[in-house]
Amino acid sequence: MSRIAYVNGRYLPFRDAKVHVEDRGYQFADAVYEVCEVRAGRLIDERRHLDRLERSLGALRIQPPMPRAALSIVLHEVVARNRIAHGNVYLQISRGVARRDLPFPLDVAPSVVVTARSLNRLRLEALAAQGITAVSVPDNRWGRVDIKTVGLLPNVLARQSALDKGARDAWFVDQKGFMTEAASANAWIVTADGKLVTRHADHAILGGITRAVVFEVVKEQNLHIEERPFTLDEAYRAREAFVTSATQLVMPVVRLDDRPVGDGKPGPVAIRLRREFHRFAETG
Ligand code: PLP
Repeated sequence: MSRIAYVNGRYLPFRDAKVHVEDRGYQFADAVYEVCEVRAGRLIDERRHLDRLERSLGALRIQPPMPRAALSIVLHEVVARNRIAHGNVYLQISRGVARRDLPFPLDVAPSVVVTARSLNRLRLEALAAQGITAVSVPDNRWGRVDIKTVGLLPNVLARQSALDKGARDAWFVDQKGFMTEAASANAWIVTADGKLVTRHADHAILGGITRAVVFEVVKEQNLHIEERPFTLDEAYRAREAFVTSATQLVMPVVRLDDRPVGDGKPGPVAIRLRREFHRFAETG
C-alpha cells in the first residue's frame, strides 16, 4: 500500500506530495509542527497537541490555516488512509509560499502538510526494557525552544554526534551546566533520595505533552517531584534517568556519557510511569 500525505487540501501519494521551493518552512524554518502518538488507530492527547500547536502559531504570528475541527478531521483521515494502527501522525504548518525575503509576506496562506507512519511497537517496548544510552552535548539552540518550530538543526547535530559516539540520544547542557532536555524529548532524573526532577517549563525547553501527562501519573502515584534545573553532575549521581516524548513515551536512560545511571538498568520509577501512562493520556 502506498503512503498518503495531505498537502494543502489534497490527499496525495507520497511521490506526488510536494511543497513549493519558496515555501518559508523550507527556506527559513518558518514553520511549526506537532507529532501525536497513534495507538490502536486512535490519536493520543490530540487536544493537548492542538492546544500547543495554537500556542506555537500564535507565538510566530502565523494564522491558523483552518478551524481546529477541520484540522482534526485531516489528522484522522491521514491516519485512516495510511491504515496506521501504532505509530504517529506528523503535522507541519509553515507561514506559506512567498518571494524569498525575511519579513512576513502579506496575504499568504499557510502551507499544511500531514503525514503518518507506523512504528514497530514491540521493538519500542524491547528498547524500553533495555533502556537507551545518551551523551551530554552543549545546548547551542536559540532562546525560544518552547515554540515547536521545525528549526531543529542543533537537535540534528546533537543526535548525530551521539550516534557517532555509539550512543542513541543527546542531552543538552546549558552554559551554566544545567541540563535542559534531550534532542527530541524532555529529560528527567530520580535522585538518590528518590525525588523526581525535571526542568521547569520555561523558554529553554519544549513543554512536552508527554511530560504534562507524566505529571498527572506522578501525582496519582504520590511521587515527590521537583520542577527545577538540575546539573550534569546530579544526572551522573542519579538513581534513574529517563526521557519523555510522544514517540518514545517514558524511555529509561541507562548510561550517560559512558557511565551507568544507577545500576545501569531501567529503574522502577521509569518502568511504572511507562506502564501507567496511557491511563492518563486522552484517547481520541
Ligand atoms: N523536547 C523536544 C526538543 C522535542 O522535540 C520533543 C518532542 O518532539 C519533546 C521535548 C517532547 O514533547 P512531546 O512529549 O510533546 O512529544
